[in-house]
Amino acid sequence: MTARRIRKIALEEHFTAPGFETYSKVFTSLMGSATQSELSSRLTDFDDIRLGEMDRAGIDVAVLSQTGPSVQAETDVDTAIRRAAENNDFLARQVARHPHRYAGFASLPMHSPRAAAAELSRAVETLGFKGALVNGHTNGIYYDAPAYDELWERMQQLDVPLYLHPTDPLPITKAYEGHPELSGAVWGWGVETATHALRLLFGGVFDRFPQVKIILGHMGEGLPMLRWRFDSRFAVYSHGVKLALRPSEYFGRNIVITTSGVCSPAALACALAEMGDDAVMFSVDYPYESTAIAADFIESAPLSDDTRERVCSRNAERILKLG
Ligand code: MN
Repeated sequence: MTARRIRKIALEEHFTAPGFETYSKVFTSLMGSATQSELSSRLTDFDDIRLGEMDRAGIDVAVLSQTGPSVQAETDVDTAIRRAAENNDFLARQVARHPHRYAGFASLPMHSPRAAAAELSRAVETLGFKGALVNGHTNGIYYDAPAYDELWERMQQLDVPLYLHPTDPLPITKAYEGHPELSGAVWGWGVETATHALRLLFGGVFDRFPQVKIILGHMGEGLPMLRWRFDSRFAVYSHGVKLALRPSEYFGRNIVITTSGVCSPAALACALAEMGDDAVMFSVDYPYESTAIAADFIESAPLSDDTRERVCSRNAERILKLG
């Protein structure tokens, strides 16, 4: 690479802490053994492999998160609380070894909104993390439930975002019967995660906590394309649900997105037009997607210099308060 690379920050970049591989088996076991061992060496590395790829792609900072489903798949509450803290302490030690290249998103034991809020405070105030990344529902509980207001209030106080990352629905719905290829990353994860985000929106979380920001990966899990329809159909089928704003108005304000895993200039143009150029951020989804392809995509997409800089780094600097 001889061309000068534009400054980039990437936000959906995964690692695994010792002992967390067992949670990920649910999807890594579907891959070939060579792919599994390649992934494992990348997920556990914080030095030459990861930094070398970042250097070649011009990625200055990677905000790291435990790969899915992390403690969201833990069924025992006390174990989840302990292991989330262990994960966050492990990540903090790795970030401290390369403080100019890495930042952290906390794992949270969402089994207990109170414990999750406490761990978020510890992660942000003591460990210096920039927010949290949560892998969807926890044992079938979604975070529009009133008990989670305690966590949303804390997020608003701390002024940090929550990255809502995909997981499998529980149970796997009948719609995927006979089509295992559709139930995961190809389609099902996106539907599940988009639905969870809409539960937060229509559940009034962003009316009760207007400063809260959630981040969706994968070009907003398809939602930007449908903003107009949410307004049009909610006006007819509200079922008595009242919102302070039109549904579309929460996009960009409370829901922001990353480009992880969708390297399409056409989809990016749609997302920017629907969300605004303050609400879209570059990401890779390392190690599941190619860092080189993601970097080439964002550098060659037909954007103004100003928009490209916002997407590549300035929006993340503002939203995550990265110096
Ligand atoms: Mn991911």
